[in-house]
Amino acid sequence: MPYFCAMQLMDGKLASAAIKQKVAQLVQTRAAKGLKAPHLAAILVGTDGASETYVASKVKTCEELGFQSTLLRLDASTDEATLLQHIQQLNDNPDVDGILVQLPLPKHISEAKVIETIHPSKDVDGFHPVSVGRLVQGLESFIPATPYGIMLMLEHFQIPTTGKHAVVIGRSNIVGRPMSILLSSQLPYGNCTVTVCHSKTANLKELTLQADIIVAALGRPGFLTGDMVKEGAVVIDVGITRVPDASKKKGFAIKGDVDFESVAPKSSWITPVPGGVGLMTIGALMMNTLAAAERRS
Ligand code: NAP
Repeated sequence: MPYFCAMQLMDGKLASAAIKQKVAQLVQTRAAKGLKAPHLAAILVGTDGASETYVASKVKTCEELGFQSTLLRLDASTDEATLLQHIQQLNDNPDVDGILVQLPLPKHISEAKVIETIHPSKDVDGFHPVSVGRLVQGLESFIPATPYGIMLMLEHFQIPTTGKHAVVIGRSNIVGRPMSILLSSQLPYGNCTVTVCHSKTANLKELTLQADIIVAALGRPGFLTGDMVKEGAVVIDVGITRVPDASKKKGFAIKGDVDFESVAPKSSWITPVPGGVGLMTIGALMMNTLAAAERRS
């Protein structure tokens, strides 16, 4: 007998609104105790369109939640030493709780050096090797915002993960790798058996067809199609790619890595793009900044 499952949407608007409300309340509680507002300092190098959008929404969310924010804009030609000096000044500034440098950076600047210069206690993006090491060891740590946002989403919709087979497509330091660590961790929404796939994976479809949970984080629009997914799977789409679209005012549409039309009818839960994981990412960043402020006071 065929198994029909009712698909449910993991709505990032709902889940992120709940996270933001919680964070805003905690900021008010801090204020009532006489503690200062969490302070996020962001550095933007150059004028890349997508980066401008991401930084603007981070600053706007800071305002909404009662955080203090500082945005330092640097010219694309800024040299590495100057950028590192700015980071050092923010490290030394006792008023700043969290520092983020919007990636990607111009080619002449080493991202690794920039990430390692941010003090681990202010590393709210969770990219510093100290943060990654602590995460791997199951110690309290800043968790990279996108995978953290996905964990918060699983928690919000109370999606069971224990004992499930999760397939993560992508092994980047900012999404795929930390996602695989979190899903295999002993956290409440972990305890999965995890398979990590990448561009050299053979027979990827054989693996995705076995998955109870699929996280698609490869940056290939519409890559995961209905024939690659088993009935009832939970499908999380991390992909954000700007695809030219003359019908849109901006001239492009945002596409995820999942072909929603063919995958949604087979899934039990699925995230939309836009309106899914992307919204959670900012909420998770705010959680990390609040945690940084709490630890500092
Ligand atoms: P990335 O650094 O380019 O990594 C992509 C990963 O996908 C790599 O591990 C790559 O394998 C793998 N891959 C590429 N083509 C593949 C294929 N055909 N089959 C299997 N694996 C393949 O990208 P990222 O930074 O992780 O980002 C991934 C996507 O998520 C992008 O669309 C990005 O815009 C989006 N994103 C969204 C958010 C959000 O807030 N929603 C945040 C961050 C990123 P190799 O390692 O072998 O090269």
